[in-house]
Amino acid sequence: MGIAGNLKEINKEIHHACLKTNRDPADVKIIAVTKYVSKERAAEAIEAGITHIGENRDDGFLEKWEALNGRAAFHFIGTLQTRKVRNIIDKVDYIHSLDRLSLAKEINKRANAPVKCLVQVNVSGEDSKHGISASDTFEFIEKLADFKNIRVEGLMTMAPLTDDEEVLRACFRNLRVLRDRIQEMGLAHSPCQELSMGMSNDYTIAVEEGATMIRIGTALVGEK
Ligand SMILES: *Cc1c(COP(=O)(O)O)cnc(C)c1O
Repeated sequence: MGIAGNLKEINKEIHHACLKTNRDPADVKIIAVTKYVSKERAAEAIEAGITHIGENRDDGFLEKWEALNGRAAFHFIGTLQTRKVRNIIDKVDYIHSLDRLSLAKEINKRANAPVKCLVQVNVSGEDSKHGISASDTFEFIEKLADFKNIRVEGLMTMAPLTDDEEVLRACFRNLRVLRDRIQEMGLAHSPCQELSMGMSNDYTIAVEEGATMIRIGTALVGEK
């Protein structure tokens, strides 16, 4: 199936998940993750109606941005090395992978205006995953108040690699609870509205649990 057909299918799933949980589908942004595909394929996604593009490496990010900037918002979703920050900082609309103070410091230094960031949380506690632990999130976000160019728009997580629906659901639910608690702190630098969670294999569960941004690669644009 082409991208337009895939998108139609994904939108149908989103509507269904929203109907089940009394949500407005307009509150769910689809980020097309184009890391496996060419810039031509990414352009096709935009032609099909996609308005958000996600990349997880600086070279892929720059390639797609150079070809398509102005036609979509650009999200950096992967682990961001501190020394790569300056390559993307004046081009990126959202950084989903803020997970350490050294990175916040570099973003703050290189940016000319507040950058929309999501704090990456390792909800499942798996060693292999990047992100800070749920219990460290509060203190981390409080410390970010020192950086005038960091704005915490929300939280992001990668669910564990499993087909176990209950494990996935618990992961997403825990991130939502954390987001709600951070919102209640009422921090000026951290409105924390967004929940970036759900990928090709688990986005319907993520939407049911409150995702506002889903990051979809394979199911939307394919793998290569
Ligand atoms: C690759 C990637 C995705 C998309 O993965 P799919 O399973 O292809 O949908 C989402 N988020 C991050 C951080 C990724 O690196």
